[in-house]
Amino acid sequence: MSGTPALTILDAVRGDVISARSQEYDEARSVYNAMIDRRPLAIVRALSVADVRITVAAARESGLPLAIRGGAHSVPGFGTVDDGIVLDLSAMKGIRIDPAKRIARVQGGCTWGDFDHAAHSFGLATTGGIISTTGVAGLTLGGGIGYLARAHGLSIDNLRSADVVLADGSFVSANETEHPDLFWALRGGGGNFGVVTELEFDLHPVDTIYGGPMFFELDVAEELFKTYAEWIATAPRAMGAFPAFQIAPPLPFIPEDRVGDPLMLLVSCFNGPDTDAEALLGELRTVGTPVAEHVGRMPYPALNSAFDGLLPKGLQHYWKAAFLPELTDGAIAAHVEHGPKVPAMQSTMHLYPIDGAVHDVAADATAFAYRDAKFAPVIAGMWPDAEDNEANIDWVRAYHGALEPHTSAGGYINFMSEDDQGRIRANYGANYDRLASVKATYDPANLFRNNQNIAPAE
Ligand SMILES: Cc1cc2nc3c(=O)[nH]c(=O)nc-3n(C[C@H](O)[C@H](O)[C@H](O)COP(=O)(O)OP(=O)(O)OC[C@H]3O[C@@H](n4cnc5c(N)ncnc54)[C@H](O)[C@@H]3O)c2cc1C
Repeated sequence: MSGTPALTILDAVRGDVISARSQEYDEARSVYNAMIDRRPLAIVRALSVADVRITVAAARESGLPLAIRGGAHSVPGFGTVDDGIVLDLSAMKGIRIDPAKRIARVQGGCTWGDFDHAAHSFGLATTGGIISTTGVAGLTLGGGIGYLARAHGLSIDNLRSADVVLADGSFVSANETEHPDLFWALRGGGGNFGVVTELEFDLHPVDTIYGGPMFFELDVAEELFKTYAEWIATAPRAMGAFPAFQIAPPLPFIPEDRVGDPLMLLVSCFNGPDTDAEALLGELRTVGTPVAEHVGRMPYPALNSAFDGLLPKGLQHYWKAAFLPELTDGAIAAHVEHGPKVPAMQSTMHLYPIDGAVHDVAADATAFAYRDAKFAPVIAGMWPDAEDNEANIDWVRAYHGALEPHTSAGGYINFMSEDDQGRIRANYGANYDRLASVKATYDPANLFRNNQNIAPAE
């Protein structure tokens, strides 16, 4: 990068440094959401903490904007930036599982697929995302919702420690005893506080699970939501299951004449005996006979990557989200009106339950404020063709608008779109002011601002 005077410092990086002159530039600057088309000055593929420190110094000293990238899944494209520096951690993939202590140490470039692969080898897992290509660090720093949340809490509830390169270049571990204020803020405050180079998680015995997708006719949607709301409230924590709307994809277990039909979907993940799972799922089948299902025993990573094929890199993405304190009749009516209008096979609404172990943690114990919410709905518009932007964006907005009277003002920071920046204070809820004060301590000049940004307190 010696051609760009402000960036000569990057010559010391051992990983690749990719500029507009490189053949790989277009591939390297692309992120998961095809709507995001930004042109950074340099993309640094860090290989080590040293590379990360050099890159942070380059951004600090040049004054250029900095974007941090792991799995590149950010819908608003926080993992890239125009005319600035992208710090891409995706080559930092080291993982060490300690099966005796049930601990995982995971570098900042790992995806959930990498994590699940390593931990499953020992019959262990922790709460992670439901698509295997999502980054561990980005998902965790926002909270981390997945199939195991009811049993083991959010991903942040399993985070024991994080190694962080701070804005001033120092390198610290944040945990309950070292920098506890930073540790508190990292657990839900997103990428605001530094570059997380390594994370340490608690693991749990989760080997094979019983579950999978069940598709239902739309005419039982209202009844299914009502039954589900009561069912999940009393279901054992070992049951993670969410309702959704989904156009039936061409899969072997779906009758050919139903492919392309919008249907109601319930995806389950039970960490316990088959007979208990079947008894629980049987209660939902009383609402209506499934059109198709693929439910049974499978490795946990198989379920956690089951939707990967439907959602490759390069789709258009526009999402909206909120938290639901209760699944009221009003909220159900909004779902039943808008869910069936889902305009694309990849687009969906997922209604994640976040009760159980998520509620064991106080709302001010971590930066994730919405511990009283029972559900986290996300209306995820995802479609291949830019010509369909209007139809899909309109669907997401109309659906979210109808749900809004029944939801909290804030939503999950990891499910926000580019036009949700006005909701930031509400998204951090009652924890915002404390986050702003931790931000003032660790990043007073707001070097890490390409995110759901928390302004440093005065
Ligand atoms: C298809 C899909 C499925 C998803 N499923 C789930 C799900 O099941 N559960 C869930 O909770 N969320 C889910 N999400 C949302 C996801 O948590 C966020 O998009 C998250 O930001 C992705 O992290 P990433 O590393 O892949 O993204 P990136 O775009 O690489 O990173 C996003 C931002 O996170 C921060 N960040 C990432 N890594 C670091 C780091 N090492 N240090 C400091 N900051 C960092 C930065 O601000 C960065 O810009 C999903 C998203 C998509 C697109």
